Amino acid sequence: MQFSERISRISISTTAAVVQKADKLRATGATLVDFGAGEPDFPTPDHIKQAAVRALEENFTRYTPTGGIGDLKEALVERHARDFGSNYSVEECLITVGGKQAIFEAMVATLNDGDEVILPVPYWVSFLDIIRYAGGNEVLLETDEAEGFAVRAEAVEKLITPRTRMIVVNSPNNPTGAVVPPEEMQKLLAVATRHNLLLLSDECYCQCVYEGPPFSLGNSKDCEHLLIVGSLSKTYAMTGWRVGFALGSTKLLANMLKLQSHSTSNPTSIAQKAAVEALRAPQDCVRAMLAEYHRRRDRVVKGLRAIPGIECTLPRGAFYAYPNISAYLNRDGLADTAALAGKLLEEAHVAVVPGQAFGTHQHVRLSYATSLGQIEEGLRRMATFFARF
Ligand code: PLP
Repeated sequence: MQFSERISRISISTTAAVVQKADKLRATGATLVDFGAGEPDFPTPDHIKQAAVRALEENFTRYTPTGGIGDLKEALVERHARDFGSNYSVEECLITVGGKQAIFEAMVATLNDGDEVILPVPYWVSFLDIIRYAGGNEVLLETDEAEGFAVRAEAVEKLITPRTRMIVVNSPNNPTGAVVPPEEMQKLLAVATRHNLLLLSDECYCQCVYEGPPFSLGNSKDCEHLLIVGSLSKTYAMTGWRVGFALGSTKLLANMLKLQSHSTSNPTSIAQKAAVEALRAPQDCVRAMLAEYHRRRDRVVKGLRAIPGIECTLPRGAFYAYPNISAYLNRDGLADTAALAGKLLEEAHVAVVPGQAFGTHQHVRLSYATSLGQIEEGLRRMATFFARF
């Protein structure tokens, strides 16, 4: 069988591959500590699940409008306005099958072959593959670990060429947990506006910050040069429900909707009802999960820094730590981060994601969206593992 040139530009997500490998090992009876999966370990809060049960009982099981039900769009723009001071109308809102679909649609809808997209490193794996699939070329912006992987508007502007079409920013960041300060985000938007580009701001983790209030660039009024992508996956422990969204210009959203109408159609009907409940109900569950992530963050960073040779930048948001393990590379068959992650999994039964998946060659990513007990055990195993080298 022949496959398209387009599909050969991309590969299966490395994080999914780590999950598969970990599952295989688990099936042999091994007890793993899993720092691989980038999803909350909490169950979806009960009041949200009950809303889906009610929707089922009321037979809300048919196609809905492709871009999401009116109720959900209203709930979303209201929550966004309340939390971030934004002012989007329901027409400037599209409900998608996870934040990932919004990113995919935005890139396919805006990029022509050879268009350049500025992408800060480390990047979330899917950005790179989606840019390539859409025909774009990534222009990587290296960031400085010593400065906490800070993305600076000035550095972004230097990479702009006549082919640049889009800038991607993801704050809080997967995989580093870095947070771009609000002033710098505004500067990034100013750069996009000055050069007539689209700034795609992936704010899937925007409710998960450990210092200061959550922030969204959506509080600026520029729809023309800004697309906000968000998700309920992480905020409400709803990864399996597949509800995400985009906020931006009606013209861009209309083009994204075309793709949605010919691919998935609407996000799942009952998941949309659950999402309305998540957004409209009191937000105590979000605060409770954040407090727990905060405790775990402190424990993970302390534990990693206690291992000789490992350095770890303090993550200020999301639920990932991105330690530098370069002191252990090029020893005893540990040629690169993939080899190290492989050995750590096979020998210590600890799953982490190699940094090369995110564009760096000296790190591994740990998701600390797992219990403190698992974190303690994982750190203990890692300390023993690294002590051998
Ligand atoms: N953006 C980032 C940075 C992510 O880490 C993820 C998921 O891991 C997503 C977007 C997509 O999440 P979802 O499709 O579950 O909404």
